[in-house]
Amino acid sequence: MNADETLTWRRLWVETTGRLGDAVPARWLVEEVSGLEGDEWTTDLDERATALAVARLDGLVRRRLAGEPLQYVLGHWAFRHLDLLVDRRVLIPRPETELVAEVAIEHARKRLAEQRPITIVDLGTGSGAVALSVVSELPPDAVEMWAVDSARDAVDVTRANLAGLSSRHGRNVRVVEGSWFTALPVMLRERVDVVVANPPYVADHEELPSEVEAWEPAAALRAGPTGLECYEQIVPDAARWLAPGGVLVCELGARQGPAVTALAQTAGFATVEVLPDLAGHDRVFVARRPQTVASVTQA
Ligand code: GLN
Repeated sequence: MNADETLTWRRLWVETTGRLGDAVPARWLVEEVSGLEGDEWTTDLDERATALAVARLDGLVRRRLAGEPLQYVLGHWAFRHLDLLVDRRVLIPRPETELVAEVAIEHARKRLAEQRPITIVDLGTGSGAVALSVVSELPPDAVEMWAVDSARDAVDVTRANLAGLSSRHGRNVRVVEGSWFTALPVMLRERVDVVVANPPYVADHEELPSEVEAWEPAAALRAGPTGLECYEQIVPDAARWLAPGGVLVCELGARQGPAVTALAQTAGFATVEVLPDLAGHDRVFVARRPQTVASVTQA
């Protein structure tokens, strides 16, 4: 750049595109440091860039060039209607998980047609993507949400994201640290209407994309030798914590449908369904507890 040329946001975008080899993430990074939003991207693109933004952008581009996922570099990412804070403490919210939230919302709505308020539990909440989407897309005060994670770090991120929710939606959300159902107060036993979970389900021997392996928390991805370990804990316990007619909604790996279905049948769930994601892979597991309590095995 010539010394007499003004460093505008546009020039910065062009330069960043050159460094990253891609105009789209370059734009997102320039938007991030410039604060230009929506129409401002067209109206203010030829304004002079600030020194602080230039320095900050350079730091972000270096992180991206070192392989860090764009979502962590930006520090936030969209999930359904929310813009969530994300960093290395939590999994990056994935598009297929939006479907898991949608199925949970659908079942919550059906339940709300019969009673109000209802209780929903999100196990392994991470950034809070599922829990916070579900509450924010249902009528305020219709839902009591319990968001659970065993990692202190993740709980901190969930709480930060909860702070970003409007108070009418956020006031009935409790974020608790602990292992699955043991984190919940006993008074919720047999009283939960919907349990939703995106647990770790990748087997130890399975390969993950290198960017995922290098940057995302293994504890949120890897379940153990078979990949089914978390379902082996969650599914039987869900049968004990759900109210009669309550529903369990889980994300699962593309080849885990039959094994998780078998677990649910053994645990006494009445109806079990596996739904595909947009790519046609098995992704969402839905099991309903029978209306009559007698048919459920109690441990
Ligand atoms: N879908 C994720 C992946 O394969 C796994 C998410 C999970 O384990 N809950 O990267």
